[in-house]
Formats: sequence, structure tokens, C-alpha cells
Amino acid sequence: MSTITGKTHLVGLLGQPVNHSLSPVMHNAAYQEMGLDWCYLAIPCEKSKLTQIAKTLRLINCKGLNITIPHKQEILKACNKFTEIANKIQAVNTLIPENHNQWIGANTDVEGFLMPLKNQDLRNKRVIVIGSGGSARAVVMGLITLKLKQITIIGRSENSLKIFINDMKNICSKNNTSIEGVNNQKLDVTPYIQEASLIINTTPIGMNKKNNVEENIPLGYAIWNNISNKTILYDLIYTPRPTSWLEIGNKKNCLTIDGLDMLVHQGALSIKLWSGFDNVPVETMKSSAKKHLMV
Ligand code: NAP
Repeated sequence: MSTITGKTHLVGLLGQPVNHSLSPVMHNAAYQEMGLDWCYLAIPCEKSKLTQIAKTLRLINCKGLNITIPHKQEILKACNKFTEIANKIQAVNTLIPENHNQWIGANTDVEGFLMPLKNQDLRNKRVIVIGSGGSARAVVMGLITLKLKQITIIGRSENSLKIFINDMKNICSKNNTSIEGVNNQKLDVTPYIQEASLIINTTPIGMNKKNNVEENIPLGYAIWNNISNKTILYDLIYTPRPTSWLEIGNKKNCLTIDGLDMLVHQGALSIKLWSGFDNVPVETMKSSAKKHLMV
């Protein structure tokens, strides 16, 4: 990073936890290459203080914010306007400064998520999304562009699943994709796993843990005996690399995708929205993030 001076502007990330985040490393590397006198910080923030902190940061002319786990829906309260996608899915990962100390809520996760799937043909296939939180909304919004047959959301909480399906079913049906919710506490999800061409983990299960213990594997160990080597496993988590779940997939010769490309592309899109510049150095962002993961 170049020297922080009296003129340097603040940009940042709000979430809980944030200490795993690679965003500061990759954003600050991009700003340096782009000649932006900005500094990106990861700021841990509790749900009860989120709106107040976001609004206060706008008052001190913060140039942009990213929002991460678990606040992508709670942050709607701090926004005065929304982009079309953020409004449709009611989930925000990027705040863009607007006049009169206001924030526009945007979502760059949708495009970031799709980037590593751009060479896959998933037409008429069945896809599973594990989890029904903020990022799962962006994932479903991305998936409906792929002309799938069926999206199955697997979750642990009946209430979360109900709200999720209710909010997303119209968007899906407009795109001729059916969506259903399955509670893995009540139903055996084996048949769904066997039929899926792509399975996406959007829960934090496996984050920052190095041991292959049961609690680090979404849905537990046994269920993964049911995947074939044709199943694609996509984990939104990017650290540890690979996660315990993707290690299982690698052993079964599945195509595995981790969250690093998504992270880099959603971050690059956020910078575009904040700075107005089209040429964001995506490769620099990715290499700085990878280098940091190896430290
Ligand atoms: P979130 O809004 O808090 O949602 C998390 C979801 O996971 C919820 O549905 C929650 O279920 C479920 N969950 C949490 N702990 C669980 C457990 N122990 N067992 C079963 N289900 C559990 O979080 P998020 O913002 O969607 O983020 C989720 C993960 O995706 C995080 O690890 C985040 O870092 C990662 N992510 C990565 C990228 C990237 O660029 N690579 C982008 C976005 C997110 P309940 O509803 O029942 O609580």
C-alpha cells in the first residue's frame, strides 16, 4: 500500500467475523495499481450496530462498503435506494455512496458467483444450494440465468427456508426454473445429492478449520458417498484452500471450485461501481489474495 496521508479516503468491509477476509489485501493491491488514494479496512460489526455504523461511515465520506456474513439482508435498513438486482433478491454486498449522505445498495455477488461457471453447460440439470442466507440469494439469482431444470435449497431451519422460497419463487418461475426447499433435519437428502449435477455450499461450514472433522463438512461425511465424479462441487468459502468438503470432492475426482474467483470478481465489480473506472486489475487482486493465502 502507498503511504496513508491526510488525503486518503476510507473504504471497507462490515461483517462478523472479518478476520479471515482477503478483501483488504486484494482491494489495497488494486487501489495502488489504479493510483487511487484509498485505504480498505475490514471492520468487525455486530448486527445491532450495523445500520448506525454504515450511516456514520457515509457521514465521514467513506467511498464504499462491502458487506459480508451475516449482514447481507440486515444492511437493507441502511440503504436509501437499491439497484434492480439487490432489490429483487433483497440482499446487498456493496454500498455505493450517493448524494445527501445516502447509500445505494447493490449486489456484485451474482456476477462474481457466475464467473467460474461460464464454461459449464448446465441446461436442464438439477442443482443443489446448501444454505438459505444472504449469499444463497445471489447464487439463486445467478443460477436462473443458466436454464436449469430445478434448484433445491437444502437448509436446517424450516423458517429460513420458507422465507427464502417465498422471496425467490417468482424470480425463478419467471425464468422457467423450479425451486424447492428441503429441510435436512426432517428429510433424507440422499436422492437429491445423487441427482444433482452441481452442488453449492453457501453456509460457513468449513471456514477457517483445518481438520477434516464431521462438523467441517456440510451435511456430514456419509452423504458424500452418493456423489459421482461428474458432480461439480462449488464452495463459496475460499479459506482454508481447499476446504475439507472440496478435499472430499478432489478425492472422488469431481470438478471442484472454491470461492476465490467469486471473491475477486465481486470485489472488482465493487471497485468499478465506486470509482467509475472500467479497468480494474483483476489479476493483481487474485495474485495478491493467493500470495496471502500461502503465508
Ligand atoms: P449468512 O447470510 O449468515 O447465511 C448463512 C447460511 O448458512 C444460513 O442459511 C444459515 O442457516 C446456514 N448455516 C450457518 N451455520 C450453519 C450450520 N452450522 N449448519 C447448517 N447451516 C448453517 O451468510 P452469507 O453471507 O450467506 O455467507 C455464507 C458463506 O459464504 C460465508 O462463509 C461467506 O464467507 C461465504 N461467501 C463467500 C463469497 C465469496 O466471494 N467467495 C461471497 C459471499 C459469501 P440458518 O438460516 O438456519 O441460520
